[in-house]
Amino acid sequence: MRFCFPDWESRHGDQDALAQAWLASQEFAARGPDGLATECVLCGTQARLKLHGDPASPDFREGLVCTGCGLNTRLRASLKLLREQLARWQPAPAPLPDLLARLGLRPRLPRVYVTEQATATFVWMQRHLQAELHGGEFEPDWRRRRGLTHALRRMGGRGRVVFRDLTALDFADASLDGVASFDVLEHVPDYQAAIGEMYRVLRPGGACVATFPFTDQPTTLVRARLAADGGIEHLAPPEYHGDPISGGILCYYHFGWDVLDRFREAGFSQACMAMPYSLEHGLPYGMWTLVAIR
Ligand SMILES: [Zn+2]
Repeated sequence: MRFCFPDWESRHGDQDALAQAWLASQEFAARGPDGLATECVLCGTQARLKLHGDPASPDFREGLVCTGCGLNTRLRASLKLLREQLARWQPAPAPLPDLLARLGLRPRLPRVYVTEQATATFVWMQRHLQAELHGGEFEPDWRRRRGLTHALRRMGGRGRVVFRDLTALDFADASLDGVASFDVLEHVPDYQAAIGEMYRVLRPGGACVATFPFTDQPTTLVRARLAADGGIEHLAPPEYHGDPISGGILCYYHFGWDVLDRFREAGFSQACMAMPYSLEHGLPYGMWTLVAIR
């Protein structure tokens, strides 16, 4: 089942179905999905779910991992959505693909920018996504980037970690078919600039698929902001998220439904919060993922 809403008002128009999904997910959680066999939406095969972290306060978004692909629920849901978006992409009109095959040339793969690179998720994408991937890390220090490249290789990944600033990307206008951003946007103080850049580099029809802490409330909670003197002003207790570079990176935002307005203001023709929901596939309620189409 898929829930998909363009705004807070329409999300409340489907209250019954959402309430049922939420209740069923509560039962699913109470049964203890740890060890449950499931058909993973990414692996496509039977795999077991493994619950990591404190079982007394289970975190099904981050802690419920498929033993097949090694990815948590948030990533399984969002990568499924990304794969669906890339499947819409047509390499070239027929009969050109046949001609290219006869000439021994491979058709161009969809070009996708991933706003992270030294992660197990990027390695999974390198192995399993039919796409030309471009990663990057916001790490200007080349020595630390070299360390990140080693980390990428240790995880089984390929290539060299490059510096990329999500608010000032080095891609040409309309040069990409997809942008994937998994829990990065909340760490970018000027996230509107980041959304503007994602719009600029996507071709018309290209898709952005993104996750971030989502409150499911009308407005975004600003936890911290840059002060005039260049320091950081905390409006809520500082929250740090795990990061391979520093061990902890400040979270500036918990986004609300108004984040979709920021995407539409940047020019995206469609923006919605989607929630893939399927208990049979180990996807309980709450895996909200942004899908925006240029
Ligand atoms: Zn899996």
